[in-house]
Amino acid sequence: MAEMEGLEFGKSDFVLLDEVTMDQFMENLKLRFEKGRIYTYIGDVVVSVNPYKQMDIYGKDAIDAYRGRELYENPPHLYAVSDAAYKVMKRRAKDTCIVISGESGAGKTEASKYIMQYIAAITNPSQRADVESVKNVLLKSNCVLEAFGNAKTNRNDNSSRFGKYMDINFNFNGDPMGGHINNYLLEKSRVVHQQQGERNFHSFYQFLRGGSQETMASCHLQSDPSAYVYTKEGATCNNDYSSHKAVVHALEVIGFSKKEIQSIYQILASILHLGNVQFGSEGENVEVLDLEAVKHISELTGTDADGVIKSLLYRTVATGGGDVIEKGHTEEEACFGRDAFSKALYERLFGWIVGRINDVIEVKDYNPVLHGKNTVIGVLDIYGFEIFDNNSFEQFCINYCNEKLQQLFIELILQQEQAEYKREGIQWQDIDYFNNQIIVDLVEQQHKGLISILDEACLTVGKVTDTVCLDSMDIKLAQHPHYTSRKLTPTDKTMDFQKHFRIRHYAGDVTYSVEGFLDKNRDLLFQDFKRLMYHSSNPVMKEMWPDGQLSITEVTKRPLTAATLFKNSIVALVDKLACKEPYYVRCIKPNELKSPLLFDDARCQHQVAYLGLLENVMVRRAGFAYRQPYARFLQRYKMTCEYTWPNHLMDSDREAVEAIVKQHGFQDDVAYGHTKLFVRTPRSLFTLEQERAAL
Ligand code: ATP
Ligand code: MG
Repeated sequence: MAEMEGLEFGKSDFVLLDEVTMDQFMENLKLRFEKGRIYTYIGDVVVSVNPYKQMDIYGKDAIDAYRGRELYENPPHLYAVSDAAYKVMKRRAKDTCIVISGESGAGKTEASKYIMQYIAAITNPSQRADVESVKNVLLKSNCVLEAFGNAKTNRNDNSSRFGKYMDINFNFNGDPMGGHINNYLLEKSRVVHQQQGERNFHSFYQFLRGGSQETMASCHLQSDPSAYVYTKEGATCNNDYSSHKAVVHALEVIGFSKKEIQSIYQILASILHLGNVQFGSEGENVEVLDLEAVKHISELTGTDADGVIKSLLYRTVATGGGDVIEKGHTEEEACFGRDAFSKALYERLFGWIVGRINDVIEVKDYNPVLHGKNTVIGVLDIYGFEIFDNNSFEQFCINYCNEKLQQLFIELILQQEQAEYKREGIQWQDIDYFNNQIIVDLVEQQHKGLISILDEACLTVGKVTDTVCLDSMDIKLAQHPHYTSRKLTPTDKTMDFQKHFRIRHYAGDVTYSVEGFLDKNRDLLFQDFKRLMYHSSNPVMKEMWPDGQLSITEVTKRPLTAATLFKNSIVALVDKLACKEPYYVRCIKPNELKSPLLFDDARCQHQVAYLGLLENVMVRRAGFAYRQPYARFLQRYKMTCEYTWPNHLMDSDREAVEAIVKQHGFQDDVAYGHTKLFVRTPRSLFTLEQERAAL
């Protein structure tokens, strides 16, 4: 149990609530937030409320206080779960993972950074140079990934626009010796378009503001983002200049060569120039209006200017008879192609950067016979559930991902409980909880699921439109309890129900507009761009486009669709997490105003509901709220009983614990496991705590 801080700060564990009701839960959460207690437990799950101000709880003193301690010895903290995950990994040689969830702006990325800092701080006491270097690269990789993968959105000034899972590998000493990063679904549409008030990825503005004059000149750029179509929506921020320096420094520390760093920024510059390419048409003929921009792009990407123009204006297609012809784009197709190329350049750059970091941190020369078992702590910082006014393909993927993670949460939390009771020889009682497998199936099931239907529509030759695809979904899923067709219940009169469908997610109903689903799922990039880049004279760029080596007649197989690729990556992620011992951090965003003072009751309650926190408390309490090894229980409470203070004379700690329990009259509230005492209701422990405090 978390150290009693005094009840004026509320209850440090929701399991201690008198009754598990939403009202009591919210009251406690709010009280703690207002008292500056941003962390609260549900057992060993940490509930965190974004304080929106710097807290003085992460310094060296705090690290020392939590190092090697048990969860209940200190007030709730990220450090305590990090330490728990670390201890289990080290002592039991078990892989663990920390799953951080919550909506945009709830504090996931900040939490993941504190967790990594803590792990870095408590490891490698002997300061071995090779370990220090690994730690340094792991920490520095955050800075780089944030620059290229984060952006200012209307909900968060530093919003992660990709999902991230990082494995940290440890040697038998418990020191980090490497790692691996997986990235998920970068929101690449942001490269070419941002909502009002939002920015493109930080990297563009940082580069424009912070790049040296010499670099700017060689990239033919001016430093004003409003000069470029892709960045004109957003302005630079105060820290863009210094951030650029920090990112370049981080790239150098990680081990990127000068040539590689230069190539990275040449790609950014090319994308900015590409955005400014306009087309004009005269009759059938489409032409590029900005030849200057094309010249810069070809110079920066090491490609031939004519080749750039050609890829922008034509696509090569194989005819049925085996001939290859060049087909001119319409102006609209040319714009589509240009934007698709820009997005792909950025996405591949991002993937390549992650790959290069992985090359550096990959564990090398590890010999399990010599070095013992190599164990892992995984940290997952991935987008939370999204319900916007207008929900599209991206939200569909993100919400599917959350369904998968929720499914895992249910399985693991229940499984863990079950396993513990079994291990300790205690009877387990089943708990009623909502199993969201049915929604997972709705999305991913072969043939009948939404992704299959989408893919089928994308593969069908001929003009299958988004609405035709919606028809097919309606026919196949009309009976599904979690799918609502537009034709069934158009309750909201303002919506165009010819284009919407609704999924009843575990976290609430989300109405998706099917418009653009097929294009986004196809994620078409004309092969001509791939070939263009594959023939780049810059080897760094060439490396990013291996699929450009295929000639048009060789490209026979259709690439997997975006939804299927995403599904496959999430299934692999869940498999990875499922074989680790999980720890959870559930983040809550207190208000929409980024204010440290405001606790918006309705917003918070909504998050508590869809994160399933109340269910979590119930699961935790349905069995036994608390468990403690006999020796530890004795240590803490022996002074409350005459038979055990100062020492007991019984045969075992268990008997001594029985004496304490009996003396306080809650023998009906406990069960005795093989090694631990299980207490059903928190009230019993409360009594003990109070007595202990009164002595
Ligand atoms: P997204 O899903 O958009 O990436 P997120 O959950 O990762 O959102 P963060 O970027 O971690 O959200 O947090 C948003 C902002 O909230 C931070 O930039 C910071 O200003 C503030 N914040 C979050 N956690 C803390 C904290 N523990 N202490 C102080 N400020 C915090
Ligand atoms: Mg984030």
